Amino acid sequence: MTLRSADFESAVSTNSTTPAVRGASINRVMNFCSSCGARVALRIPDGDHLERHVCPACGTIHYENPKLVAGCVPEHDGRILLCRRAIEPRRGYWTIPAGFMENEETLQQAAARECWEEALARVEIGSLCAIVHVLHAHQVHVMFRATLAEPSYGVGVESLEVMLCAEAQIPWPEIAFPSVAFALRKYLEDRAAAAQGLHFTTIDMRLPGR
Ligand SMILES: [Zn+2]
Repeated sequence: MTLRSADFESAVSTNSTTPAVRGASINRVMNFCSSCGARVALRIPDGDHLERHVCPACGTIHYENPKLVAGCVPEHDGRILLCRRAIEPRRGYWTIPAGFMENEETLQQAAARECWEEALARVEIGSLCAIVHVLHAHQVHVMFRATLAEPSYGVGVESLEVMLCAEAQIPWPEIAFPSVAFALRKYLEDRAAAAQGLHFTTIDMRLPGR
């Protein structure tokens, strides 16, 4: 699966000037218990310090935790593989291959799978480049370096177009997500310095009251 979630990091980017509100937030759209079907209630369980969706019928506490997104910056002959998104959010904008991790796969496997799904490219995943905490979307994006295992790529069903792009041709204003721009910039800075650093950043566009 690729990045399809309506609450992906760009979803509230139009409110980026809103001051961030500190404090944990919760997805308040859960109505029913997935274990027994009863209506859930929002409350702080005994011994906890945050509101959770709690089922009064069967007692299940529905914890919500950040989702992991895995991606890579695939390089071949000095150029970077970029995909133009065929799906919302940010349809028509450019990204590196990335998407939600599935159960029972490693971060590296997830990153390589996304590259195959979006760009029909086999990659060898290298070192870790960037970790981006996307607080408002409840996601952590983990981006690796990668090289094409063979000089072959195509247009996956989730892409409109795929290209190998020289650094000078990267369409920065049309990059889909801040986390992708961050990973790309750090990748290129490191490459210019013959380094392979690990870079962290936090993106926080939470709305008041969330
Ligand atoms: Zn229940």
